[in-house]
Amino acid sequence: MSTAAPTKTPAGIEATVARLKASLGDKGVIADPASMAPYLAEQRELYQSKARLVLRPSSTAEVASAVKLCAEAGIPIYPQGGNTGLCGGAVASADGVLLSLARLNKVRAIDPVNFTITVEAGCVLAEVQRAAAAADQLFPLSLGAEGSCMIGGNLSTNAGGINVLRYGNMRELTLGLEVVMADGRVWNGLRSLRKNNTGYDLKHLFIGGEGTLGIITAAVLKLFPRPREVETAFLALKRVEDVMALFARAREASGDQLTGFELVPRIGLETAIKFGEKVADPLPSRHDWYVLLEVSSSQKDSGLRAALEDFLSQAMADDLVQDGTLAASAQQAKELWRIRALLAELQTAQGGSIKHDVSVPVSRVADFILAANTAVSARLPGIRPFPFGHVGDGNIHYNLTQPVGADKAAYLARWEEFNRIVHDIVIGLGGSISAEHGIGLVKREELAHYAQPLELELMGRIKRAFDPKRIMNPGKLLKSAP
Ligand code: FAD
Ligand code: ZN
Repeated sequence: MSTAAPTKTPAGIEATVARLKASLGDKGVIADPASMAPYLAEQRELYQSKARLVLRPSSTAEVASAVKLCAEAGIPIYPQGGNTGLCGGAVASADGVLLSLARLNKVRAIDPVNFTITVEAGCVLAEVQRAAAAADQLFPLSLGAEGSCMIGGNLSTNAGGINVLRYGNMRELTLGLEVVMADGRVWNGLRSLRKNNTGYDLKHLFIGGEGTLGIITAAVLKLFPRPREVETAFLALKRVEDVMALFARAREASGDQLTGFELVPRIGLETAIKFGEKVADPLPSRHDWYVLLEVSSSQKDSGLRAALEDFLSQAMADDLVQDGTLAASAQQAKELWRIRALLAELQTAQGGSIKHDVSVPVSRVADFILAANTAVSARLPGIRPFPFGHVGDGNIHYNLTQPVGADKAAYLARWEEFNRIVHDIVIGLGGSISAEHGIGLVKREELAHYAQPLELELMGRIKRAFDPKRIMNPGKLLKSAP
């Protein structure tokens, strides 16, 4: 089989465009710039996305037909879900087509005995959560963009979010996939089995594959018993070392009931109070660190609240927790979670923000934050570390806010310099430079820098095997596929 991309002549492209229009119909093709614009926007405004066309197929068969036509003409295809990714993964190029999965939005089946839901790739995450709830079950993936991100995007970035601690990330929530391969054939791996040891588990190549190996069109996802009781606490701590000591204790004490453990630094709370709408400090005095802790039980009258109160009074007696508040109602819990959600949204209100989405072993979270804070402050006195997020998974959104009064553009120009400092520390602690957002374009160079040569070689070989013409989201994840 030849691995060279076919020659593209203008006439060849025009003929393919005509065939795509014929195959997908009027609703399936967008060609005018104004209607294409929303698909070409990019969250971080780091990249200018362009495309020859936007394709909106409405079924797996239409996706397959579009991919086959593009493959024959050597036209690059850029898959897109909700376009909420933070790594430039769904950015297209002028010679390619952007393929939106938005019209593949059906819930195909719910099996409450098997605890599974079968959904198409264009289903919005919040709708899948709602469909599960309507069957009195839980689909636990939850993240800030859940109102617009789509299952195909969640799968392709192996999305994480706030419930990973208890339920796992997208990889762990998936039983089967249906995928259109780079030549237009459809792989039906839509199995709903908890056990299946029949060779290489192909679905895991597409999960986290960022659209570089094929286009996911549907998935079988795991459901869980719905929580009947949820308790939420906002706790103040003196030292970051205490945060992870508290985590270990909470896990030990509550077993599987610990569902959320999020870090909020003082600068985060101050940002939410200053720039958020109607946000008040939940506690009367100032503290350096906070933890938003959630426990939940699928049983009624589980004694969850009393157990949490006992746990917290012991933690306070032992000087691990300085102060705290337990939500008295679902509304109060929502308000506490709103503070957490505002952190990602509002931090740029404090000035330029250099971002890192990293993970280290849970036991090394405090070591990481302390070492990184020291290193970045030595390089730029006055820099304001803003570490927050899912530390119960060892995942820190380690963002760096510019010094007060510094020039924003000059500060942001030092992005790579600070990436290197932070990522060197992460790798030194056995961590990862991308915990949950993926690689896309943003971290392509970093992956090439830090991955083992053998890992890069194996990834390149997989890419070539699945996509010999290099038309599936080319240029993403891997710097080049030699
Ligand atoms: P897109 O942005 O459309 O695409 C992402 C990547 O997947 C691209 O490479 C694209 O080509 C590829 N892709 C999309 N659909 C398919 C498909 N069907 N087949 C093959 N490839 C495909 N992420 C987290 O993990 N945890 C968080 O807590 C979190 N919080 C966020 C909060 C906010 C406010 C925002 C804006 C983003 C957040 N994200 C988070 C990032 C983002 O929401 C996730 O990465 C999400 O999973 C992306 O889904 P999407 O449908 O928007 O994908
Ligand atoms: Zn996150």
